[in-house]
Amino acid sequence: MAERLGLLGGTFDPPHVGHLFMAYTALEELGLEHVVLIPAREQPLKAGRTTAGAEHRLAMTRLLAGADRRLSVDPIELERGGLSYSIDTVRAYRAARPTAQLVFLMGEDTAATLPKWREPGALASLARLVVLTRGEASGGAPAWPADVTVERVATRRIDVSATEVRARVRAGLPLRGFVPDAVADYIAAHDLYRTTTE
Ligand code: ATP
Repeated sequence: MAERLGLLGGTFDPPHVGHLFMAYTALEELGLEHVVLIPAREQPLKAGRTTAGAEHRLAMTRLLAGADRRLSVDPIELERGGLSYSIDTVRAYRAARPTAQLVFLMGEDTAATLPKWREPGALASLARLVVLTRGEASGGAPAWPADVTVERVATRRIDVSATEVRARVRAGLPLRGFVPDAVADYIAAHDLYRTTTE
């Protein structure tokens, strides 16, 4: 049977338990063998808005994946110059793994922006696009391009975002439970997010 591989891109600024549960849900509900976390160098729709440097986001994403053999981290978008277009990443995966079933994973907020992405139709032809919806909060499917099929899989609601984690650091609040302890320790050791404004 073809390898089933989930691809989860994000800014991971910082990575948090919402990302972990998203990956776990995908592994269990979609019967994936593996999920690859892919930090973006510069997400086109969030250009200029990442806070921590690429090397910190990569290190923290590796800490989030930890020793879980079902998860890995690929710096492919950090190594590529310029804006990080998902279509370039999925093409690279398709070329390297011609027979694998590639499952491109998105949260609802990300999926809502799909019509603005580069070549969404090509993306949908190379990978299954799956939106992990959060609880009952779904406002229905947005108007995706006609050549794009997006599946929806319900996931447990984990009400944590990187925006909130950064705000907690600025406010001097503890991060326990929001991010794995290793990520919290990394943020403290490198003094990330404390003095940034947004
Ligand atoms: P920010 O708050 O800075 O916008 P974020 O928490 O949404 O960041 P990203 O790294 O941009 O994190 O997200 C990567 C992917 O994970 C996106 O597809 C996003 O929709 C999804 N995601 C983030 N947080 C959650 C969560 N709590 N539950 C489910 N999906 C999530």
